[in-house]
Amino acid sequence: MLKTLQAKVIAGEPLHSADLTFLMHYPVLPELLAAAHAITRVCAPQRFDACSIINAKCGRCSEDCRWCAQAGRYHAVTTVYPLIDKDRCLQAALACERQGIHRFSLVTGGKKPTAHDFASLLVIIKYLKENTSLSLCASLGLLSLEQLAALKEAGLERCHCNLESSASFFPQVCTTHSYQEKIAVLQDAQAAGLSVCSGGIIGMGESMDDRVQLAQTLRQLQVDSVPLNLLQPIAGTPLAKQDPLSEDEILRTIALFRFILPHAYLRLAGGRRQLTEEVLRQALYSGINAAIVGDFLTTSGATFAHDKIIFAQAGYAV
Ligand code: SF4
Repeated sequence: MLKTLQAKVIAGEPLHSADLTFLMHYPVLPELLAAAHAITRVCAPQRFDACSIINAKCGRCSEDCRWCAQAGRYHAVTTVYPLIDKDRCLQAALACERQGIHRFSLVTGGKKPTAHDFASLLVIIKYLKENTSLSLCASLGLLSLEQLAALKEAGLERCHCNLESSASFFPQVCTTHSYQEKIAVLQDAQAAGLSVCSGGIIGMGESMDDRVQLAQTLRQLQVDSVPLNLLQPIAGTPLAKQDPLSEDEILRTIALFRFILPHAYLRLAGGRRQLTEEVLRQALYSGINAAIVGDFLTTSGATFAHDKIIFAQAGYAV
């Protein structure tokens, strides 16, 4: 049955809910990971896609996302600073380019940028486009179609907006904006001609079924790049005491995402430092073919030089 489902995915056929239930409960994890590996080798891009992000604005946010250090109503300690200026941003982009990273993303905290910040962001994107050869991405919150079209015009290639979890679990971790608003951003970004990047956080108390639902929604939306973040419980936030996921559960999640999203970039994102090198290698084997490298949002990441060696040893062109 496992081999049949592997062949079904490789043949381009969608999996049914009984198939997904079978995979969720498949008892021999190494066999499940090997099947996900076979799908990855045939269907997914074999050039590893590394990107770097810059936290372009950080502050006290109006929203109530229960995992987030920037949510103003909780008591996490976080650095607050205004939108980065364009020359500092260019320096960071050029440093990224010098290291051989070809994708660079601007990330701002908050539900959406102010009109003033949005005008500055357009200037920054245009400036980076003119002065680097990077593929430019941005994660700027709940943007309108007009704003997304203006960003595309300025030189943006991809818009990031995480759905975070399943539609049914999302209201348990955020009540100040809706899942549908996030889906609308992704659909508007596609309508504006942008590629889309959207994934979620695992380990917030959701079930494996919630993760499978998230992956299916991302498949329906034809998302190109899917970041998988491991919850990093932050002191002062409501999820501070959340128990970490087991390594097996993390690897099973990655394998299931690969079964559901055979062609996507599955991007290891925040929380990666929780993984031992052995588990990181198993994650790369089971479907991860992209990662955020360099500085992470509010925590630090491994150095790219060491990352490159591990990605190459996993069989990817780097
Ligand atoms: S909208 Fe963004 S910055 Fe604001 S609380 Fe949610 S995740 Fe954090």
